[in-house]
Amino acid sequence: MNKADRIYVAGHRGMVGSAVCRALAKKGYANVVTRTHKELDLLDPAAVAAFYAAEKPDVAVIAAARVGGIGANSAANALFLYENEMIALNTVWGAYKAGVKRLLFLGSTCIYPRMAPQPIPESALLTSELEKTNEGYALAKISGLKLCEFLRRDCGVLYHSLMPTNLYGPGDNYDVVGGHVLPTMIRKFETARVNGDATVPLWGTGTPLREFLHVDDLAAACVFMLELENPPDLVNVGSGEEVSIRTLAEKVKAATGCPAAIDWDSTKPDGTPRKLCDTTLIRSLGWKPEIDLDTGLAMTVADYRAALDAGTIRL
Ligand code: GDP
Repeated sequence: MNKADRIYVAGHRGMVGSAVCRALAKKGYANVVTRTHKELDLLDPAAVAAFYAAEKPDVAVIAAARVGGIGANSAANALFLYENEMIALNTVWGAYKAGVKRLLFLGSTCIYPRMAPQPIPESALLTSELEKTNEGYALAKISGLKLCEFLRRDCGVLYHSLMPTNLYGPGDNYDVVGGHVLPTMIRKFETARVNGDATVPLWGTGTPLREFLHVDDLAAACVFMLELENPPDLVNVGSGEEVSIRTLAEKVKAATGCPAAIDWDSTKPDGTPRKLCDTTLIRSLGWKPEIDLDTGLAMTVADYRAALDAGTIRL
């Protein structure tokens, strides 16, 4: 990738896409092309094809997706499959048809089987059954990364994928019903602190293990991968550290300074028991994360409070 390249970032208003734009700017890539959801409907293949034909980007980063936590995914697997499949096929195939030479496709480590070996290596892909709670999302993302792999092999374009672990950071979605666990916890503890509530309701048993990566670390990894001449097809990116949901809750409680007690609701799903990705490959390529969980949590709580004050929070 060259500094003068025109780089299309799909999903630039989302948490990941906006972080990718910041990381590109920081490294001197000034020629970034974006479209809002209103300007370009990524579910519409003709509109996406027309956009690529008009803009002719050199590089595309696909960070657009319908995302959500366990609540949103398990309630709407059809929607998550349909929208993410359409976005993946339209943005990747459209790029290929328009002559885009290089593309980075972003997914998530929930593409791996529910009972994959832990930490999960890239080779675990499609070796056994997926986690049911987010099967629709996972199938769509698997289609997208496979399309990249097939196009690279069959047609010689440099399309490759990066699968991040659970992400958090500025611009996250703080919806307590459909959101991911970390931003949801920040909102729940902050709300309880402000309201003086005695308890904070959390889901499941607190025993599942999860890994969290700050979105600015992911964005740095995206630029790093795009600067490699011959990247592997599929690469995991994570912090390499896992915490139980219970420990995460204690950390968020401390970061927000909320004195409320935690009330675990075991009628709510735990989801996959453990989700730590094997980051040996990306580390062997020369990348490592910079933001540890405690530092990242403090930054994110500060960002949440600022966004709430400014009225810019996504709920
Ligand atoms: P996942 O990592 O794909 O399973 O999705 P999430 O980011 O939604 O994390 C879900 C894990 O956090 C499950 O083990 C939930 O039981 C647990 N959890 C605890 N409290 C909450 C909550 O308030 N919201 C969500 N989304 N998950 C919670």
